[in-house]
Amino acid sequence: MRARGFTLVELLVVVAIIGTLISLLAPALAAAIQIAYQTACASNLRQIGLATQQYLKDHDGWFFPLYTEDDGTGRYWYYGFEANGSPALGEGNRILDRTKGKLYPYLESSGVEVCQAFPYSGPYKPKYKGDPWTYGINRYFSSHPAHSLGNVNGNGNRPYDMVRPRDACRTVIFADSAQVVTFLAPATPTHPMTGEFPYIESGKKYVQFRHNGLANVLFADWHVEACEPAPGSFNPTLPDARIGCLDEKSVVLDPQAGHSSG
Ligand SMILES: [Zn+2]
Repeated sequence: MRARGFTLVELLVVVAIIGTLISLLAPALAAAIQIAYQTACASNLRQIGLATQQYLKDHDGWFFPLYTEDDGTGRYWYYGFEANGSPALGEGNRILDRTKGKLYPYLESSGVEVCQAFPYSGPYKPKYKGDPWTYGINRYFSSHPAHSLGNVNGNGNRPYDMVRPRDACRTVIFADSAQVVTFLAPATPTHPMTGEFPYIESGKKYVQFRHNGLANVLFADWHVEACEPAPGSFNPTLPDARIGCLDEKSVVLDPQAGHSSG
């Protein structure tokens, strides 16, 4: 008997079946990818937590400053150095030297600065050439007099007693962050875009809930947890970006403000 190939109709049926199977599996695959991103992000934050603990040990419990301009050559952010003149290169072309960030020597592997769920597509405006820094430090903890919001110990601007933290399991150190930008071209008030943002602050919309509506948060006892937004807090300029506030009924951003009831 002569072997016969597929008829055109049989082929079309097979193609249709495969197409249906793929369309059935695609949502499950997308959900699995999101879970993988969230897990990798939590691991990043745990590593940043270890780096921060080591930094605190080496600096008598003082946090790194948000940034300094010590030698007048540019801005030493905790996550990298940007030389004078770099901002003039324009958004997306600015140059960041990550190796000069205060935390860099304590980060054991590169890549921990990037949450893979950060919205690279859509209306995203990169700030620097290359990878962004996708997490925000609780600005309360900056040890720089001009940037710190904390004065808990009555000791100048010393931000927080990390040896005996109060309410450590609810006090936020780092979180998934981003901002809605309506200035700095190509963003304009009529063309709002998302961008990275290096700190978060009580009552400010700088936290991005990019993991299925949740944001990963590193707390002062160094555990990482996915947290919900404060109800109705998303920035209305770009609500789909899910950039808003943590719910300060359940987490603490300003240890001095006595948000610890409940
Ligand atoms: Zn994340």
